[in-house]
Amino acid sequence: ATATRALFMLFGATGDLAKRKLYPSIFNLYKKGYVDNDHFALIGTGRREWSDEKFREVILDSVSANADSEEQAKAFASHFYYMSHDVTNPEHYDALSDYANKLDQQYDIEGNRIFYISMAPNFFGTVAKNLKAHNCLSDNGGFNRLIIEKPFGRDYDTAEKLNNALAKSFNENQVYRIDHYLGKEMVQNIIALRFGNPLIEGIWNNKYIDNIQVTLAEKLGVEERAGYYDGSGALRDMVQNHTMQMLTILAMEDPISFKDVDIRREKIRALRSMHVYTEDEARQNFVRGQYGANGDQRDYRHEDNVPNDSITETYVAGKVLFENKRWKNVPFYIRTGKMLTDKFTRIDVVFKKPLVDIFASAKGTESELNNNVLTLFVDPVNKIILRLNGKQAGQGMEMQPLDLTHTQSDEEKAATPEPYERLIHDAILGNATNFASWDEVSRAWEFADVIRHVWDTDKPDFPNYTPGSMGPDAADELLARDGRAWVFNS
Ligand code: NAD
Repeated sequence: ATATRALFMLFGATGDLAKRKLYPSIFNLYKKGYVDNDHFALIGTGRREWSDEKFREVILDSVSANADSEEQAKAFASHFYYMSHDVTNPEHYDALSDYANKLDQQYDIEGNRIFYISMAPNFFGTVAKNLKAHNCLSDNGGFNRLIIEKPFGRDYDTAEKLNNALAKSFNENQVYRIDHYLGKEMVQNIIALRFGNPLIEGIWNNKYIDNIQVTLAEKLGVEERAGYYDGSGALRDMVQNHTMQMLTILAMEDPISFKDVDIRREKIRALRSMHVYTEDEARQNFVRGQYGANGDQRDYRHEDNVPNDSITETYVAGKVLFENKRWKNVPFYIRTGKMLTDKFTRIDVVFKKPLVDIFASAKGTESELNNNVLTLFVDPVNKIILRLNGKQAGQGMEMQPLDLTHTQSDEEKAATPEPYERLIHDAILGNATNFASWDEVSRAWEFADVIRHVWDTDKPDFPNYTPGSMGPDAADELLARDGRAWVFNS
């Protein structure tokens, strides 16, 4: 492993995300030697008046379960420093800048800085602006990189405003926009499978593929996120970002290399070929839903902190089209929602049936040839199933589905880093492949905004699906209309 010297400056260090995901991830990188153990420090900031001791207790608490020894966890925590800091108070940044310089010297970090904003998005611009204005960025040849959490705007206009604000302090190639789906093993595996196998790449087009289905299902309802969620909805929370990113990787052309610039170039090209709907088309091709009640489960409108006339969608299904040579006439169907049958993410690539069924005369009436389906299970297990047609054992020529299955082993699972660990590591290395670029984010907003506008205008008929189901009937009709069905439907 190449160890990188780095000074982290974390905004939102007392927050939930920092404790649950960021500290354990940085600890794993430390354990594996990806951050240089002698040349690394982290300044955590938050509103609370914490001492370094208190901060280090929190760090220990969040990493100890994963430590080889208490000494190891303590040695790690000793690199953590806390500053109480109101991000809206410019003077505080002067103190921060001094402290950063001091720690940089103390640990001989050579000016490499990673700024991580794990705070509500309305602070992203303020923090970026003050960091630059108060000389918190190093200027001695080290790198300055900014990692920001989601959401990146709530529509095109707010995203553009935010981007312009960031751009005053950081270049686009210094900005790392987190989309943790891009840190998932199987999402990264799409690229390996597509471009490492002529067998797959050769048939990855409209000659052989009938349609592609992407499902991001959650079993839970809004829980304690209702306050945020009700102002957002599934389209903003799941479609504009994660779902669009997965579609892009499925649809893009071959990058000329695995370098981030080359992959981004192809992702952007794919997004440019994505058809942005008119309002009427959006009405026809997108379906929204909100869950009702079921037994003990309250309907969405009666969840805590949700207004009882809320028209926020907890479910989205839709058809996405790429207007290029590869994907002409191949719909990409997407769906995501809360309170569905289970928590899982999967991609089903449905291939066309043979043009001629030569077995028709030999087969019983029951057994029709099925579509070949390649299913990539992204969550909760990494698994790949290729469904073929094979012969049933015995006399005659009855056909039956034959599944080639690869499931990630326990060893592989143990070796698979959590998305946040992987993404922070990428940022340390300066590899932006698995982060969302502005061109991608803005194009995705252009697409989502039309749908959003229609849904803000038209009155929905909510609630329209039952908790524990796979969503509203209209989501099935969306495919039925095209003579198709969801591969997973129970
Ligand atoms: P949180 O509310 O638990 O933490 C917020 C942090 O911001 C705290 O450390 C708080 O001290 C700090 N803060 C707030 N106002 C401040 C101010 N004026 N000056 C200085 N510090 C201030 O939030 P969280 O769950 O840790 O999430 C952080 C952000 O990450 C969210 O806003 C969200 O955009 C994003 N995010 C969170 C999750 C998650 O799982 N929690 C998932 C995806 C994205």
